Amino acid sequence: MFIRLLATVAALALLSGPALAADPVRSVQKVLASKGYKAAVASLSDTHDQTVADLITLTEIPAPPFKEAERGRAYLARLQAAGLTDVETDAEGNVMGIRRGTAHVDGGPVVVFAAHLDTVFPEGTDVRVRREGTRLMAPGVGDDTRSLATLLAYLRAMEAGKIRTKADILFVGNVGEEGAGDLRGVRFLFNKGKYAGRIKAFISMDGADPRFVVNQGVGSKRYHIAFHGPGGHSYGAYGMVNPMAALGRTVTDLYAITTPTAPKTTYAASVVGGGTSVNAIPHDVFLEVDLRSESAVELARLDRQLNEIMANAVAQENKARSTRFGPVTYEARVIGERPTGRTDEATAIVQLTQAASRALGFETSFEASSTDSNVPMSLGIPAVTIGSGGLAGRAHALDEWVDVEKPGSLKGMQVGLLSLLTLAGAE
Ligand SMILES: [Zn+2]
Repeated sequence: MFIRLLATVAALALLSGPALAADPVRSVQKVLASKGYKAAVASLSDTHDQTVADLITLTEIPAPPFKEAERGRAYLARLQAAGLTDVETDAEGNVMGIRRGTAHVDGGPVVVFAAHLDTVFPEGTDVRVRREGTRLMAPGVGDDTRSLATLLAYLRAMEAGKIRTKADILFVGNVGEEGAGDLRGVRFLFNKGKYAGRIKAFISMDGADPRFVVNQGVGSKRYHIAFHGPGGHSYGAYGMVNPMAALGRTVTDLYAITTPTAPKTTYAASVVGGGTSVNAIPHDVFLEVDLRSESAVELARLDRQLNEIMANAVAQENKARSTRFGPVTYEARVIGERPTGRTDEATAIVQLTQAASRALGFETSFEASSTDSNVPMSLGIPAVTIGSGGLAGRAHALDEWVDVEKPGSLKGMQVGLLSLLTLAGAE
């Protein structure tokens, strides 16, 4: 028990240890100069064709929100083949496996390195990859399939370099990052999965740009608001309440709000629908609204304002016209809620990620974004989101592309590897 405790303390110390926090640049330089790291980078280069092949294969397995299972199975098989232990699919659909560290303790702390399995594209989207020179084009090829392939490349590289880390690393292909998925995969991982409470640091690889260190999670709240009314003939029932008028007032009043620019806080009335016929007062109309902020306080304020606006818009409509056949009512359903969060710039994970990016010649910047890291950030667990390297564009569009040109890709890929090895304590 005592030995176990000591080992746990040692493993924790390496994640929050003063040496690392005090001098992330030196820690990064030490890894960079090591024989193992050089061999690992050589492996990234030697197996580049394999990485591209993995990218194409995985991209061509559709993974719409809530339908990531087939891609998950393919990824699970690759994690197994890479030699990880405890390879499994959890109850939410995340696939994962452990690369044991030298400070391993059963039930002890882990460092997580994750990429998301899901894409934004619905079932039936043509996900075949088209290739023009070094450019690969397909929905989802960059966001986030390239990161999935990059994780596999890191596993090969660490084996080739015979690199041992102190910490256990949990490699994860998670579900539910995009849109309606609402971060369900990572939420499960941190709150309900068997590693809940054991994750001491989290790196999400999402997107491409190796200069960006996302250390701030933009929170959001999303509503589907249904307005109902008695409906009626547009001419014959003229003078009756109309849910469309309440919807219109809601949008107009929302757009009269001035939100702060810092912390950046935004809203959008984004989707509308409903109605019966051009010559009918509608029974049912709906509106969808997206609220976002870097600050939990501002997001809550905006949320309250929207709720007051909806209630008032409906009350005004019921006053303005006849409710003889029934009033206008509404029902606001939350369809998405992502917590805000922040990993302080002085935190070791942010410092060393920045140091890794700089050591490889990139001008880094701190960014705010909505990613899987929102969840650990909101729980106070050190987390960052970084890019997988290489040029890419048109994420979330049908003509999404990545460039797998070798020197540029390899340079960018090293940022994640160097960050991970430094964080996990390469020996
Ligand atoms: Zn993504």
